[in-house]
Amino acid sequence: LAPIHVVGGGLAGSEAAWQIAQAGVPVILHEMRRPGVTTDAHHTDGLAELVCSNSFRSDDWQYNAVGLLHAEMRALDSVIMACGDANQVPAGGALAVDREGFSAAVTARLLAHPLVTLVREEIAGLPPEDWDNVIVATGPLTSPALAEAVLTLTGEESLSFFDAIAPIVHAETIDFDVAWRQSRYDKEGPGGDAAAYVNCPMDKATYDAFIDALLTGPKAEFKEWENVPYFDGCLPIEVMAERGRETLRHGPMKPVGLTNPRDPTVKAHAIVQLRQDNALGTLFNMVGFQTKLKHGAQAEVFRMIPGLQNAQFARLGGLHRNTYLNSPRLLDRQLRLKPMPRLRFAGQVTGVEGYVESAATGLLAGRLAAAERLGQTLEAPPAHTAIGALVEHITGGHLEGARFSPMNVNYGLLPPMEAPRQDGEGNRIPPKDRGRAKKRLMSERAIAGLTAWRDAA
Ligand code: FAD
Repeated sequence: LAPIHVVGGGLAGSEAAWQIAQAGVPVILHEMRRPGVTTDAHHTDGLAELVCSNSFRSDDWQYNAVGLLHAEMRALDSVIMACGDANQVPAGGALAVDREGFSAAVTARLLAHPLVTLVREEIAGLPPEDWDNVIVATGPLTSPALAEAVLTLTGEESLSFFDAIAPIVHAETIDFDVAWRQSRYDKEGPGGDAAAYVNCPMDKATYDAFIDALLTGPKAEFKEWENVPYFDGCLPIEVMAERGRETLRHGPMKPVGLTNPRDPTVKAHAIVQLRQDNALGTLFNMVGFQTKLKHGAQAEVFRMIPGLQNAQFARLGGLHRNTYLNSPRLLDRQLRLKPMPRLRFAGQVTGVEGYVESAATGLLAGRLAAAERLGQTLEAPPAHTAIGALVEHITGGHLEGARFSPMNVNYGLLPPMEAPRQDGEGNRIPPKDRGRAKKRLMSERAIAGLTAWRDAA
């Protein structure tokens, strides 16, 4: 069998290489880091280096979406999870690892595999034409030569070098006794819907307090090498507020073209708009609210917005250096690049966010590439699994016209279920516990779906 080439030996590339080799297909892993060559975030030449925190986050598969992803990956012979489990350090309900032991274990297992060859080199452009089956897993700091080549192939707006992310809210936590749905001037919004937006009205006193909170809230610093430009249309809201107290009222919070159905005679002083973010309608992003406020402060400040007082956030806002594809436009469900299908993409460069999510897409890309080499048919797992939901987020579930934002796995990416009112024994579940009970049902559904997919493959 001709080998599959994997470019990038990070979380995604290492997992992909493992899955390919375990399927009985030879794999060549190309990693550019070696003594003297690194990225702005890595410090070693070990495979699967954790560049920042040493946590894989919650390990609770029943009630936490990333814990669910752990469970799905363990069921699929993940080398990242096996080495994470073997190098665990105490962290309560989270899975945290000894980063050096973890990276050394991944490196050792791959090097010991008879079908894996590791080559220390940069692929400084599109992979050679005679590589017919390639996984590109070069991460958020993809080397410039490769990033430029992909940009040239796919065109402007196909690859971002920064993410400027507005917070994303779980729709079910918006208070519709306060907020209402309407597009500005009743014109159609994304998805062709004249009521695509959710509007949260503010009076003057609330607006003033909100601006004060933005101005005084703690901000995250950029890393020295990040050098993120503030480009027009993407200014952090606190930077807009610094330019003048009225700036936001004339920008993303302008109160025009919208009428509060509860009292059309009262004109709001400012209005925060949220736009549907996924096709399921479970997630809404806060329009124009990219921010460098620290995460802890964001939830508090944004809950000052009427209608969002109980908001739960699927992700908070941020502004980072991050190379990622406009995947909904460019990747098919097989994670192949539409204009050059011999290239599959995996990891953070596809627009997932986080160590575990990156590894999970690497796992899937590895299985898909191996199946292709073996002449087998394999589809991505169903959308009600955590892995399937990630694929859906990056390839399909994104609403036409909405800006594609990288995202961690969360329950809002999975098809919704009704919150149960009774448990399995017919006992009434109190309303405050129903959200939690729903997560458990969604997790059980996901594991059943994943196991069936695995066993049918
Ligand atoms: P990586 O793990 O970065 O792997 C990509 C690999 O490709 C690297 O080894 C790189 O050297 C190699 N490479 C790049 N270009 C080429 C090329 N042309 N040829 C050959 N090799 C190449 N996520 C979390 O969950 N928790 C965190 O705390 C966290 N902190 C982060 C901090 C920073 C500064 C950054 C940038 C990201 C962070 N992330 C974090 C996000 C993300 O989960 C990690 O970046 C994760 O490592 C992504 O996995 P990956 O496999 O896609 O990329």
